[in-house]
Amino acid sequence: MSIQQFFSEDYFTARDKFRAACQIHGTSVQTFAHPELDGAGVALSTEVAWFGPSNASRLLVLVSGVHGVEALPGSACQTGLAASGSLCDLPADTAVLMVHVINCWGAVHLRRNTEGNVDLCRNFMDFSKPLPTRPDYEEIHAAVNCPERLGPLRDAASGEIESFVRRKGMDGYIQALMGGQYQHTDGFSFGGTEPVWAHRALVAILAEYGQQARKVCVVEYHTGLGPWAYGMAVTMHTEADCARAKHWFGPWIVAPNQREKDRLGDAYRVHGHSTEGYLRALSGAETTAIVLEYGTYPPQESLPAMLDDHWLTVHGDENTAVGQAIKQRMLRLHYPQDPDWRQAVWDRSKQVVGQALRGLTSTS
Ligand SMILES: [Zn+2]
Repeated sequence: MSIQQFFSEDYFTARDKFRAACQIHGTSVQTFAHPELDGAGVALSTEVAWFGPSNASRLLVLVSGVHGVEALPGSACQTGLAASGSLCDLPADTAVLMVHVINCWGAVHLRRNTEGNVDLCRNFMDFSKPLPTRPDYEEIHAAVNCPERLGPLRDAASGEIESFVRRKGMDGYIQALMGGQYQHTDGFSFGGTEPVWAHRALVAILAEYGQQARKVCVVEYHTGLGPWAYGMAVTMHTEADCARAKHWFGPWIVAPNQREKDRLGDAYRVHGHSTEGYLRALSGAETTAIVLEYGTYPPQESLPAMLDDHWLTVHGDENTAVGQAIKQRMLRLHYPQDPDWRQAVWDRSKQVVGQALRGLTSTS
């Protein structure tokens, strides 16, 4: 069986393949319909499939498509795993829950964000509490939101960003841009003012499927950060939860919220990360959440493309040649066509799923 067949070139094909793969071994799929349709009137949805005993106290949750444009590699890993039959032979008292493309709107529109320009991975805030302010982002907001894609205004905006990078360094720039902000609905890394549909759907899924679990591991599939084809494990946990994640997934796991000496790699600190949502929704369980980040291209290439895409969202029109070109570039920066990259994605996913199942069934 070639794993390449499980990789799709668009969301609708990926959804069909996932549903078909679940059917091979008689696994039923529940559909959570998004309120919006695509441009042709076709329904968008998140699919949910359960493997193993319904009352299992140990649960592995695999989530794809938190960032829509990153959905297809994670979808392929879920589809390949469902089709392989290996989940028919899980350890005792253990189940796997797959959440296929939680940000289906973003997957269809080839956007990182959800409808409403919200980064789902910055939306898991407690919105009953005051939201953080971001002085560093305020310094670059006007430049990031430049209304002109090319021309003198854009040149001036790029100059402002270059000046910021000189003063704060590349790390400071990435932190300002990617950390999550809650003041500008038309800004970059906007975390929203309330839970978006995908956030509410994820909470509803975990309420329906996760409440009997006492020990949970969540693996979220992402792409676009780290070296080419390398599957970097990242955890937002600290202290004992972080130590457990290291024990399960290896000491090289990246932990951006841990003390400075333990910080490694390219990850940055963020507000409203989905890990906070898992901890709230699964409060009766010991939860170990990681992000599996597959590297593609360096930030020198991906950040300008993301700024272009932001310009398209706020000021442009996706139904133009320029708009389509920007979207295709975003897709390829997050989802290379190289078969070796895709093989590495699958191999690393298998390894991480094995580590997670061993962790869940261990006594530590
Ligand atoms: Zn991502």
